[in-house]
Amino acid sequence: MNPSILVTGGAGFIGSHTVVALAAAGYQPIIVDDFSNSEASVLAGIEKILGYQVPCYAEDCNQYQLLRKIFREHQIVGVIHFAAYKAVGESMQEPLAYYQNNLGSLITLMDAMLAEGVPNLIFSSSCTVYGNPDHPPVTEETPIKPAASVYGNTKQIGEEIIRDVCAAKPLKAISLRYFNPVGAHPSAEIGELPRGIPNNLVPFITQTAAGLRSELTIFGGDYPTPDGSCIRDYIHVMDLAEAHVSALQFADHQPSTQYYNTFNLGSGNGHSVLELVHLFEKTCKTPLPYRIGPRREGDVVAVWADVQKSSAMLKWNTKRSLEQALEDAWRWQLKLSGNQT
Ligand code: UDP
Repeated sequence: MNPSILVTGGAGFIGSHTVVALAAAGYQPIIVDDFSNSEASVLAGIEKILGYQVPCYAEDCNQYQLLRKIFREHQIVGVIHFAAYKAVGESMQEPLAYYQNNLGSLITLMDAMLAEGVPNLIFSSSCTVYGNPDHPPVTEETPIKPAASVYGNTKQIGEEIIRDVCAAKPLKAISLRYFNPVGAHPSAEIGELPRGIPNNLVPFITQTAAGLRSELTIFGGDYPTPDGSCIRDYIHVMDLAEAHVSALQFADHQPSTQYYNTFNLGSGNGHSVLELVHLFEKTCKTPLPYRIGPRREGDVVAVWADVQKSSAMLKWNTKRSLEQALEDAWRWQLKLSGNQT
């Protein structure tokens, strides 16, 4: 029997790609997702890729008894915890909702895991924990900066809670600090599904190129970077998804029943917003109307990952180029636009 892994938020962007990566690696993923920020159609996309239906509980994962029941019924051996609110701006308006949802569900989840003896936890963290780093690239030893948003704070506190629990209880956990996931599954059956106006750069680029938006605004052209725009580390979402499988296997193979570690997940390369725009135009052979606008409040100037630790310990490396990620994102957008007309 394939080992079963619970994926909370498994219908979301990174979650759905991780479900596919888990299945490809011989695991049986089980999804719990309340669809508050995801679409039921994602399940059909996953089914098309895998050729079978992945079990899904359409429920809020912050339910202790439900989680215990799922752990028992499916003999869950590990949890990948994606379910969380993730809008930085909204988190400043609704701090309690963010602390309640992001930290409440994490505490409930770990409580239920300990009660049922589920040994492995992978937690979605973020490079926002590094804030505006003094000297990119950042390693896992780079000092954590005070969080610039409530959302970022839920990730920092989440990491601390997990670390403390692993020091006291039989739990093996890994926090994965994501840089900027982009792209889609190459089949174009699943991808990013932003609601309303996209906050993130790549969905905004593809929607603009598809004619759904008139132009991209580049947030700031006067930063102290070579071309004046911000620098980020963009990673193909399938590379990121596969890292979860590596992390799960790594945690599972730890001989001690108590273990905690953090890993950066990025490509290891920094690209400016302007570079990304021009790379998209070249790779996808589609013009992209854009203008340089004012800076966006709270943006980090430049950050990219040092991935030596992930590479050495998780035996994981990215396999896909940024060009491939942009092509996959574009293919996904074209499919979505086709569906909309
Ligand atoms: N960005 C931009 N225009 C947009 C959206 C994003 O110029 O419409 C820039 C943003 O300022 C940042 C980069 O693109 O430098 C990545 O932003 P995103 O919101 O995708 O991710 P973040 O790094 O903020 O989590």
